[in-house]
Order: sequence, then structure tokens, then C-alpha cells
Amino acid sequence: FRSVARFQREVFPQHQELFAALATRQRPDALFLTCSDSRIDPCLLTQTQPGVLFICRVIGNIVPPYPDAVGGVSATVEFAAGVLRVPDIIVCGHTDCGVMRGALNPDMVADHPTVRAWLKHAEVHERDADPSAATILALAEQNVVRQLRNLRTHPSVAARVAAGELRLHGWVYNIGPGVVTEYDEVAEKFLPITGAGQAR
Ligand code: ZN
Repeated sequence: FRSVARFQREVFPQHQELFAALATRQRPDALFLTCSDSRIDPCLLTQTQPGVLFICRVIGNIVPPYPDAVGGVSATVEFAAGVLRVPDIIVCGHTDCGVMRGALNPDMVADHPTVRAWLKHAEVHERDADPSAATILALAEQNVVRQLRNLRTHPSVAARVAAGELRLHGWVYNIGPGVVTEYDEVAEKFLPITGAGQAR
């Protein structure tokens, strides 16, 4: 953890004004809800500085439907939508997700009852002990759409979506090529985020 000392010595002084402004308040632009996978760096991916993203990380970027499972994710969603009143929520899945692999192959998580119980919110009914990359990607996409649906069951989200104050976005991060796709509700498929005509 020597890197903490390096942060204090070398990095902090370069961003002193930003940290001074953030010291007593936050007004994040979005709740970014993504998998705990070590390969995802939300701030790197979105090129955002501290203070911009309110981040919720959980295996499989799963949002339990309200009021099934009161826990960390539900509380974080309610806090972001209701208290911080973020204008956007992004659910971001990813390629090669081990959680999707586990959902397809329950034997893999048989000895891990908490993981197994959590995966029921992914609602995967197919079985595949050796899924291809394409199968995992397709499942990750379906899972993001499912979690957007689960998000809408939370009253704090539903009320603000209905009022036009909150927008929901579904993303999938393709780790190998570094491409992010976004769910298009009209086309009912994931399309690359190009930057043209898009806010983020
Ligand atoms: Zn994952």
C-alpha cells in the first residue's frame, strides 16, 4: 500500500482544487452500477474524475427487484435516486463475466450458497457448462436488460422515471476491444456508443 503515500505526495497536489470543492459535498451526475470484476474501471472507462460517478459494484451487476432483497444494492439505488437525485443510472455488464458463467453452470457455485442465492436474480434458466464467449456476451446483454427492469420496480426509481427526471441506461463493456455498447430500447439491441449525438 505504498501507493497511498504516492497519491498523497504526487497525485493529490495536482488536484487540490477539485478535492477542496468535493470535501464537503457531492453532486454526482450518475449512479454507475456495474460488476465487481477487477477488469472494470468505471472512471477510466467514462473518463470521469472523483465526484462524477456514484458507484455501486456487485457481482453480476444485479439489482434485486423491490422489495425482495433489502440489502446493499437496494439501499444504494434508493440513496442515489431518492436522496442524491442523480439524473441518470447506468447498469454496466461486461464480456467474459464469471458470474454469467456461474449462472449457466450452477455446479460451479454449488458450494457457495450466498452466490447461488444471489444468482437467482439473474433469472438464467439455460444450462451450459462450457459456454462460448458469444453465449456469455448474449447472456450479459440479457442480464443488463433484466436488471433495468428490476430497477424500475424500485419506487424511488419508478417515480422519478415517470416524472421524466431520471433516465436509465444499459451498457455492456467489451473488455478485449475496449468497446462499450448501449441498449437501444427501440431497436431492442445493443449498439456501440459512438459519441455522435450522445450525452455520454
Ligand atoms: Zn462480471
